[in-house]
Amino acid sequence: MLRVAEHAELTDTGRQRRANEDAFFARAPLFVVADGMGGAQAGEVASATAIEVLAAGLGEGESVEQQLSTTVQQANAQIHALSVADDERAGMGTTITAAYVGENNVTLVHVGDSRCYRWRDGILERLTDDHSLVEEMVRQGQLTPEQALEHPQRSIITRALGPESVVEPDAQTINARDGDLLLLCSDGLSTMITDDQIAAVMARDKPLKATARGLIAAANEAGGRDNITVVLLRLEVLGGDAASDLEQTQVGLDVGQLPRAQATAGAAAAASVERRMPREPRAPAAKRRRRWKPGVGTLLALFAAALLLSGVYFASQAIYFVGADREGFVSVYQGVPYELPLGINLYREDYISGINLSQLPASERTTITEHSLRSRSDADDLVRQLELGRLGSSAP
Ligand code: MG
Repeated sequence: MLRVAEHAELTDTGRQRRANEDAFFARAPLFVVADGMGGAQAGEVASATAIEVLAAGLGEGESVEQQLSTTVQQANAQIHALSVADDERAGMGTTITAAYVGENNVTLVHVGDSRCYRWRDGILERLTDDHSLVEEMVRQGQLTPEQALEHPQRSIITRALGPESVVEPDAQTINARDGDLLLLCSDGLSTMITDDQIAAVMARDKPLKATARGLIAAANEAGGRDNITVVLLRLEVLGGDAASDLEQTQVGLDVGQLPRAQATAGAAAAASVERRMPREPRAPAAKRRRRWKPGVGTLLALFAAALLLSGVYFASQAIYFVGADREGFVSVYQGVPYELPLGINLYREDYISGINLSQLPASERTTITEHSLRSRSDADDLVRQLELGRLGSSAP
């Protein structure tokens, strides 16, 4: 099963515009970039409306492609209605590029000149075709891609949400591999820097937040003539592949770097302490040590106990549970749902989903707050199902 392991998103007004008419949405399983246009804040209204409609859930349709396309058409109808109803908003519009991360593949739906790229094995591939004048001229051989980048009409788009009462979105479903990185961006990135320059930033292989900052900085250094928005998401394939083995090894290394006394003390209390909510800190109750001189037998016994307890600790690290973080987002935790004195947690955050507890019906909320112990795949599956279910359980 596929999931979003990490995502980062950033928008910037750029160096020449006064307002930012771009908008984005980034909550698994849906990621969207919209680039609004039209005077007097109308562009902001258009892009915000598009995001609002998509965030509310998928529309009717037999496939995710159809459901996502229907939703985009609904957004178009809504923006068009707003533009007809108000002279100040006449002609407003927005691009839209949306990626829906399904169980086994990713569905892309797109209108306009915002883009989706895939970074895989060090190669950047553009997955969407711009609905723009210059791109059509490139396709017809009237311009080279380099000329298109400098063409004065490069921001004229031939398809958008809003200007017409109906719109035909491009839809496609793409395969995904473990480690694939998707980039959704507005033309404020792609008209300021070339694909090679985007690839050069991606190749630095930094955390996604840093990559997002790097892309925006590069577009601004190139002039920053438009609003710049980037949404990055890294895909992960869940299940019995080599990746999970690697992570187990990584956990072992992390724990090994803890002071041993802390790790074993943690395990000792884990066995006896009652189950607690992860967020309730426990009052410190440090014990005072007696002065004494241990004999060889005592040392051996302590050593054996330490071995046993570190075994317990390592075993607890193969356990996962589902809970909610401080902001209420449903998350997967590695370890057991207990806290020890001195603020030692016996769990660590493994994954934060885009689903907030407040969005769930009471029965599902209980499933999250009871903190049942689970295998990693069980915990991942539960959260993934919530993510997919939130936007229509009919998704295949
Ligand atoms: Mg733009």
